[in-house]
Amino acid sequence: MPTFWTRRSPLAWALLPLSWLFCGVVKLRRLAYRRGWLKSYQSPIPLIIIGNITVGGTGKTPFVIALAKYFINQGIKPAIISRGYGGKIKKEPQLVNKFSDPHIVGDETVLMTNYVDCPIVVCPIRKYAVEFIIKNHECDIILSDDGLQHYALQRNIEIVLMGEQGLGNGFCLPAGMLRESLNRLKTVDFILYKNQDFILKAQPLRNLVSQEILEIDQLIGKTVHAIAGIGHPESFFQQLQTLGVQIIPHSFPDHYYFKAEDICFNDDLPVVMTEKDAVKCRMIATAAHWFVPVETQLPADFLISLQRKLAMFKPFLDILVCPVCKGKLHYQKQPHELICPACRLAYPIVDEIPKLLETEARRLSLEELDQLKK
Ligand SMILES: [Zn+2]
Repeated sequence: MPTFWTRRSPLAWALLPLSWLFCGVVKLRRLAYRRGWLKSYQSPIPLIIIGNITVGGTGKTPFVIALAKYFINQGIKPAIISRGYGGKIKKEPQLVNKFSDPHIVGDETVLMTNYVDCPIVVCPIRKYAVEFIIKNHECDIILSDDGLQHYALQRNIEIVLMGEQGLGNGFCLPAGMLRESLNRLKTVDFILYKNQDFILKAQPLRNLVSQEILEIDQLIGKTVHAIAGIGHPESFFQQLQTLGVQIIPHSFPDHYYFKAEDICFNDDLPVVMTEKDAVKCRMIATAAHWFVPVETQLPADFLISLQRKLAMFKPFLDILVCPVCKGKLHYQKQPHELICPACRLAYPIVDEIPKLLETEARRLSLEELDQLKK
């Protein structure tokens, strides 16, 4: 990442006219899709974009994993779509599994298969990925890994993640690190800051060959080679240093294709890498290679607001069951209620949150019940 992105240096000012042009084009494209001059695609099931407004790492992969896990725990079936960054997929959507080649489907999606049991589909044309999922899988919600600026795909909810570098100097590409003008942030549903709103927590190290586990404490005061081919390698190096590990840093471009000589050094020091790099090094690793899995917890207030927004979508109302008989509830638009015909109860939806308590419910009259049967 160029250093002038972090401050308003003479070079940044010099590049600013190009940034106006860049921002202008993005804005125009967005407008063209919104006005219907360019055709955009609406997924038949709710779609959440988890994206960035800046260039560089923002902890998106662990966030998408945590969100998918959350839905699975709620009994909601998610699917993940991705462009497959660093991969080679062209037009044909491809379902990713543990054994997929990260050089074809992208390193991040292969990493996700280690954590979530849901369809993960890669295709640069996101519409095709959605259609593939609808055709082949039963699913309630789609999570789009990145694609905030992919306006050919309509979305129901937009979540923007911010890295520790924040907004940089506040300029668009190429003078700064913004992919869109700052005003765009006013129109998104959520803005979450890495290491403030959600914390990336390093887990014990795993050996690439033996899968052996090593507590990070065991490396305190020791020297290791640290490898990172990610959007913001410094964040990985800092993380290790903060934990008290001495490092010899080796940074590589994002989605780098590693060769054995890149990760083997002629000494006895352990080699520690990110999990995203590890999925690409499985075939060339030795007993000296370890990776650091990262996990994140989603903030509770974010999940509550997210549920509130999702409650407006029919599939999410269908998933809810009657607290009395555990039977299926039926959504009634007028009045805005959830009905259990078996118990003759209507549960109100207040501020888009279903109040699923027997004490809050209204008893249906026989006429209303008759109406329902029609
Ligand atoms: Zn009931």
